[in-house]
Amino acid sequence: MNLLIMGPPGAGKGTQAEVLVKEMAITHISTGDMFRAAIKEGTEMGKKAKEFMDQGKLVPDEVVIGMVKDRLSQPDCAKGFLLDGFPRTVDQAKALDETLSAMGIKIDSVINVEVAREKLMARLTGRRVCRNCGASYHVIFNPTKEADKCNSCGGETYQRSDDNEETVGNRLDVYEAQTQPLIDYYGKQGLLKNIDGDQDIKKVLADILAAVK
Ligand SMILES: [Zn+2]
Repeated sequence: MNLLIMGPPGAGKGTQAEVLVKEMAITHISTGDMFRAAIKEGTEMGKKAKEFMDQGKLVPDEVVIGMVKDRLSQPDCAKGFLLDGFPRTVDQAKALDETLSAMGIKIDSVINVEVAREKLMARLTGRRVCRNCGASYHVIFNPTKEADKCNSCGGETYQRSDDNEETVGNRLDVYEAQTQPLIDYYGKQGLLKNIDGDQDIKKVLADILAAVK
């Protein structure tokens, strides 16, 4: 089975992707990991990607698509795969469709992990860091024993500027603006499976498995 997974920052998409590929015995294709590996190994595509990233530019579609195409033609993808982190735009989705159809394969389902914006804000703004030793906490998932006080050194904990409401809000806005057209695109193809991501991790996995059957 060939799947694609999407979800906003903080929705737990990465965790779900990891358990899902184990459960289904398919290959996880994370474009983020792929980039880092290609750059490290110095492949042709990796070198191209690095040139753009070094200049602080977005890696152009043809480079990303080239890398995904190379990856999809490797033998471990024949048993099925989960694409994670790609496509991000409708143009990329169209290019992916062309690539896949040339290879004689198709996407079976697109998993869209949904979590309400207020919940995402709470998750993403909850991190606190110790000024003294750098230990990391979370007000919901891993709180300090005493308010604003580091468990290990007693130092003051604080919220980093990239975790504040404005920055996190902007990230979520960018994600929504970029992703809505993709959701529509896959919705029209009848491939979209909306999954409630605000549940226990095991329940989310069970819902995904039931939806893609
Ligand atoms: Zn500390």
